Order: sequence, then structure tokens, then C-alpha cells
Amino acid sequence: MSYHLVCGLEIHTELKTKSKMFCGCKNDPFNAPAPNTYTCPVCLGMPGALPVANAQAIEWTVKLGLLLHCRIHHDSKFDRKNYFYPDLPKAYQISQYDLPFCYDGYVDTEFGRVRINRIHLEEDTAKLTHTTLNSKKVTLIDFNRSSVPLVEIVTEPDITSPEQAKAYAKKIQEAVRTLDIGDADLQKGQMRLEANISLQTDSQKAAGQLPDYKVEVKNINSFNFMAQAIDYEVKRQSALLDQGQTIAQETRGFDSTKSITFLQRTKENAADYRYFPDPDLPVIHLDDAQIEAWRAQLPADRDAHAAAWQTQYGIEPKYAATFLTRASTSAWADQLWAAATAQQVDCNKLANYLVNGKLAYQETAEPQAIVTAFQKATATASTSDDELLALIDQVLTAHPAEVERFKAGDKKLQGFFMGQIMRTAGQKLDAGQVNQLLASRLR
Ligand SMILES: [Zn+2]
Repeated sequence: MSYHLVCGLEIHTELKTKSKMFCGCKNDPFNAPAPNTYTCPVCLGMPGALPVANAQAIEWTVKLGLLLHCRIHHDSKFDRKNYFYPDLPKAYQISQYDLPFCYDGYVDTEFGRVRINRIHLEEDTAKLTHTTLNSKKVTLIDFNRSSVPLVEIVTEPDITSPEQAKAYAKKIQEAVRTLDIGDADLQKGQMRLEANISLQTDSQKAAGQLPDYKVEVKNINSFNFMAQAIDYEVKRQSALLDQGQTIAQETRGFDSTKSITFLQRTKENAADYRYFPDPDLPVIHLDDAQIEAWRAQLPADRDAHAAAWQTQYGIEPKYAATFLTRASTSAWADQLWAAATAQQVDCNKLANYLVNGKLAYQETAEPQAIVTAFQKATATASTSDDELLALIDQVLTAHPAEVERFKAGDKKLQGFFMGQIMRTAGQKLDAGQVNQLLASRLR
């Protein structure tokens, strides 16, 4: 039987605020001088310690939501998610349950739209390291990461292929980097991917019915591994369904060396966490004026920006992408294309030169200086036929063996002669003119 993939993603990404989410400790777990240096009673989970929410983290979460076309709750709150694990000494994580900051957004990919259900803000946990000390197996706990602000972006189950999952996740990483609110480095664990994967039968699809189970694959640390995990689950689940089996609601890990998923535990329900509002943290009220002020600070929408450049300046999207990574870069490029157009310079060709390293540049450079350098690099000197013939003769005299080989039929040497002539000239020549005169000499 054939099945249809039904997949949703949960992406966690750390914010690079100066301080942690609910205390004043430094938020820099990757550059800390030693484990457990950036800690205090709040992020160590001491009884009675009082958390205070980080305003910068809230602003950044809302801006990310706005960039991803979300709606914003005027009143949001923090809730306690109760569970016991050694990386969480309070025995609860401060997260958001029914009133996250952002909801109802979307990301467009080349494989179709992916709706975003919600974006909420929570705190990261401490980091556990399993190792051996004095020939004993031990687990070390580092609280430098405890209470680092962590954003979670949850999609609807709209993803229908591993390629779409990758395209969506890359766009989330791009959005975080465009806003410059996090580094979203998957290798370091600053961004972590989880995929909820199930399969739909033809009749379920026709009836618009979702499968009655989902398998969650957690802690995936690369876009390619995520695609492999989805591929593997499609095969595994198809085989089980073909045998008439029911698939268990469960959590699985991904083994990147074998490209397979493996069972970790059967899934707990949301009710098991016994969420309730954190009594130590007030409701966060955001009025329209505040939300609109933040919206006005957003960088331009990348897709819209690329489309505008294509229409206005004829720049192909494959070149445009390079100049849309950060708001400051796209603003600089806006000036550059305008300056180039004012001087009848082909913007697409200029973009090609910059992207492919044919013209070195820095984003701090005056746009006009770049246009001038480009004009110089591409200028075609007008040279008389006589001057050119003299040059050609000089090159042919210097390479008698090549001339003989060419005349014997090695036509590939045409390119060699062209290169030598251009180099000897020390400037760009009209290639058509050179070819024609060269051919007349080599006849
Ligand atoms: Zn602290």
C-alpha cells in the first residue's frame, strides 16, 4: 500500500541575550571559563529563589513571530512544566502552555506553505555529560546552560516530504540569523530539531483525516540527519502498517552513523506535565502600539525583497540570497543596485561578479566605489585591428610549438592563445574581435 507522510517539526533555538532568561547570570555557555561558573540560586533551582523574566528575550521572541507572520497574544504567561530529570533541579521547567507569545504564523517553502501553530519562550536545562572518572561511570552536570532563553517553534503537520522539512528548517535558521537574535548553530546544539512523523492512508487523506498516532524523533542536530530520520521512519512505519500493525505513540532517537531511528520511550501525554501558571511571574501584557513598534523594526521580508530586486533590477534569486542574510547587508545592497542602475550598469552581472568572487568587496565599502571597480574590471578597451594584430603576432612568435600543434588540428589551443593575448595586453579586449583576427593569422 502507499502512504502519505504527515510531518510536523518542533525547533528549539537559543537566544543570545546578554543574561539568562530568569536571572542576571551571563548567557554564554559556550565560552564559559569552566563548568558551573555562570550560576546563581535562580538558575541552580534553589527553593525560594525568585525568577524575573528577561525583557530582551521576550522582545526577540515576538519579533521572530512577527517575521514568521504570526499573531501575537496581548496577554501571555509563563507556566511550570513539571517533570523530574537531573538536568532540571527545580523539577519543573518554566515554559508557556496555553498562552504562548506567538501563534498562527507560516513559512513559505518551494514545496508549499508550512503553518506555524505557536512560538513560545522557555528556559534551557543544564547540560549533562556522561563520562568515566576514576574508572567509575558518572554523569557530570554543567549549569552554565541552565535557564538560557530557549524559543520553541511548533508547526502544524503540513510537511509532506523530507525536502520540505529541510527547506522549512533552513528558513527558521535564516530568520533567527537575519534578526541576529541567536547563532542557531546545530553542531553546538544552539538549534535542535524534532520531527513528529506519521503516515496517512489514501482514504484518510481523501477524508482529510490525520493519523491517530505520531512518532517523535528527538535531538536531531543536522538538516541532513533530519531528512534521513524522516526517510527511515517512512520505511519503518510503512512496513508495520502493511503488516496490519498499530504503530505506538513513542519517542525515538536518531543514530547518525547507521542512519536509523531507535526507541527511547513511549510518549507521555501533556497532562502528565501538570502545567500550571508560574505564581512567581506576572502575566506579560503587550499592547498594539508595542507590537507595531517592534514590527516596524523588522528587516524586510526576504522573499519579497528578492522578488522586488528581480523585478526592479533583473537580479536572479540565486545571487540575491547572498545579500539578504542580514538586514544591514540588504540595506547596503539596496544602495548598491540603485547606484549601479544610475550608471546603466547591469545589476545581475554585478551581483554575479560579487557572489562568485570575481570582484572582491566589503559590505562597508561605498556603493559607488564598487560600481566604479566593476566598470573598470569589465571595461572593454577599444583597440584598433592593427594594434591587436601586432599583439597577436607577438604571442604567436613566442609560442611556435603551440602554433604548429594548432595547425595540425589541436583546436583546443584557441583558448590558450586567447588567454596569452589578453594577458599580454594587460586589459580586457573585445573577445569577438580577437577571435576573428587570431583565426585570420592561424589559417
Ligand atoms: Zn543565574
